[in-house]
Amino acid sequence: MVSRVIPVEPFDLIIFGGTGDLARRKILPALFRRFCDGQMEGGGRIIGAARTELDGDAYRQFVQEAIVEFVTDQRCEPAAIAKFLKTVSYVTLDARGDTGWNALAGMTDPSHVRAFYFSVGPSLFGDLAERLRDYGMGGGEARIVVEKPFGRDQQTAEELNATLARHFDESQIYRIDHYLGKETVQNLMAIRFGNMLFEPLWNSQYIDHIQFTVAETVGVAGREEYYDRAGAMRDMVQNHMMQLLCLIAMEPPAKFDPDAVRDEKLKVIRALDHVTPDDIVRGQYLDDGDRPGYLETVGDAKSNTESFVALKAHISNWRWAGTPFYLRTGKRLRARTSEIAVVFKDAPHSIFGAEAGRHRNILTIVLQPNEGIELGVTIKEPGPGGMRLVDVPLDMSFAEALGPDTQFAADAYERLIMDVIRGNQTLFMRGDEVEAAWAWTDPIIKEWLEGGATPLPYDSGSSGPTEALALMHRDGRRWREIRK
Ligand code: NAP
Repeated sequence: MVSRVIPVEPFDLIIFGGTGDLARRKILPALFRRFCDGQMEGGGRIIGAARTELDGDAYRQFVQEAIVEFVTDQRCEPAAIAKFLKTVSYVTLDARGDTGWNALAGMTDPSHVRAFYFSVGPSLFGDLAERLRDYGMGGGEARIVVEKPFGRDQQTAEELNATLARHFDESQIYRIDHYLGKETVQNLMAIRFGNMLFEPLWNSQYIDHIQFTVAETVGVAGREEYYDRAGAMRDMVQNHMMQLLCLIAMEPPAKFDPDAVRDEKLKVIRALDHVTPDDIVRGQYLDDGDRPGYLETVGDAKSNTESFVALKAHISNWRWAGTPFYLRTGKRLRARTSEIAVVFKDAPHSIFGAEAGRHRNILTIVLQPNEGIELGVTIKEPGPGGMRLVDVPLDMSFAEALGPDTQFAADAYERLIMDVIRGNQTLFMRGDEVEAAWAWTDPIIKEWLEGGATPLPYDSGSSGPTEALALMHRDGRRWREIRK
């Protein structure tokens, strides 16, 4: 099944930080893929902007190299690169000065959708927003896209929101969380609200617990300065994992409309209980002989920043009272995997007797590496050996079911950038959501800083500190294995 690509309306996409790492690895390759699929046929233009003095040809060379390096799938023909480059131009511009702004204003078309992607450090967001207004580019169909991190606590997030709000309306601000652009994450909503099967069971009466795992095999090398100021809680839990939790736990919105969805997500965040230190385990990875441990990498033997966190959260509302949500994420773990496992309760009575064993349904939503959904069901073990039960997966691999040519393989950035052009904010975080997420995170971090506890060491290539296993064992539950 090949999905139909509908070209978007004419647009100008301006990438502030067009020479940076994110532009090179994600934004430009994503745009090229959309170009190859015909989505820019309506007329899309890309303008890179940064302080480095480059002419258009030099920038196109940069873009070409980024595409060759990072677009490795078979969807794009090499000949398409030359055509794509015709849509690309560059302006030398300083976010903090006047250089380049008049030129940029002259290059953009006010009758187009104009999307300004802030792919620069957050300290420049205010300068960019202000100059866009001053140079007359904030009106019409202007949108700004801002990257994470969005603040480092509630106060800084509020300040950032206030700064952006001075120049742009909330309906023009697109706060990116690339997790929300993943196909499976959107499928969470389709599965929950497009089927009759799951929603009646989607509550504490039938669900024992839900566990979220975002495991990485890489350490923090290359990002040590940023990471040591952030840690796993700020880098992963406050944003990506919180968004997943919201989509799993929210009430059905009345319609699939940006504010209806975001209102429901916000209610979940506000219903989260404070998590006490007893329900949190923090860790730091050790060296593995070849690669240095966390403390050596950040060059601070006394660093109190966690590269791993596991916690148990509760949502105090009618639907979820009594169902714990276990979240864990970390660096240098056993395998690179992200999944959500919805673990249903045991059947109330086993007609098969104790010897049939304990069986429960688990709905597993895999976000990476291979996006898909698996439902574990209990069946009779085949053969004449009597009524023995066994759990088997009812596998919903989208790529297999829908065919390899579907848009399933699209990168999250492809979807999100096209949503910006289409003016659809559903998959972007609203300002109040981000602030509420920090309002939940801040006291947790404050408490562990005041408590003075240091993160527990864990072996590289493990599943994190053993105390994280105990967090579930003491409740009579266990984490799913982090599979290679
Ligand atoms: P980067 O590689 O350091 O690039 C920064 C870009 O900003 C460069 O193009 C730089 O070019 C430009 N720049 C710096 N100061 C400027 C100024 N005064 N005026 C105009 N342009 C200026 O950073 P990055 O990794 O691409 O990250 C960009 C943003 O995305 C950051 O907020 C980061 O937290 C976020 N992010 C990055 C990633 C990632 O994978 N890299 C992932 C998630 C979020 P010049 O020096 O030529 O001006």
